[in-house]
Amino acid sequence: MAADTGAASSKSDSLPPLQAQSVPVTPLRQNCTILSDGTGHAVVVDPGGDVDHLLSLLHGREVEAILLTHGHFDHVGGATALQRALSERQGRHVPILGPDEGDDFLLESAARQGASLGLEGMENVRPDRYLRHGETLNLMGHEIDVLHVPGHTPGHVVFHDRRAKRVLTGDTLFRGTVGRTDLPYGNGEELLSHIHQRLFTLPEETVVLPGHGLPSTIGEEKRYNPFFQ
Ligand SMILES: [Zn+2]
Repeated sequence: MAADTGAASSKSDSLPPLQAQSVPVTPLRQNCTILSDGTGHAVVVDPGGDVDHLLSLLHGREVEAILLTHGHFDHVGGATALQRALSERQGRHVPILGPDEGDDFLLESAARQGASLGLEGMENVRPDRYLRHGETLNLMGHEIDVLHVPGHTPGHVVFHDRRAKRVLTGDTLFRGTVGRTDLPYGNGEELLSHIHQRLFTLPEETVVLPGHGLPSTIGEEKRYNPFFQ
């Protein structure tokens, strides 16, 4: 998968790497991530809920986009409300990008997914654009690679920042475990094979920021994650 790990462009090489702040949201403590360039610009990944809290953290910052890894409510349930509030605050439409189109049925049922666990206020999501494996987003002048890692959900994508040596893995790869695949549309073999092909081929020092729990690195997970021993 050389295309996934190719050299960084000269443009983003000249900038300091993006910073990442994890903000646990919803009762499921999902790690929403705020990426910042240090000059007042930001991108929000997986705003599952707690939108008022996110808006206060983002005060004074210009949000370029909202990115989604997959369609589960704890990752997307606050995206529509956040988009609405930020677009009004900033006076321009803030796009929702992702996940892969295979998760459309989940985005269309996010409110119902939340309600089934007693969580009110989750909203369905209609992204401005679905993302595809192998494309590179240019956000805040930085390149973010999109990798499709299905198995937890059909349309799950992860976001790899080569310059910052960081990958946002959503519910694919966690510290010491992997995402659940027991839902009707899950596929355990597919998840493990895609982690092998598309995540374990990244540089070992790459920091893994998962959708739940503590960070890790690609090297640590290759060596110690029990699913791959
Ligand atoms: Zn999930």
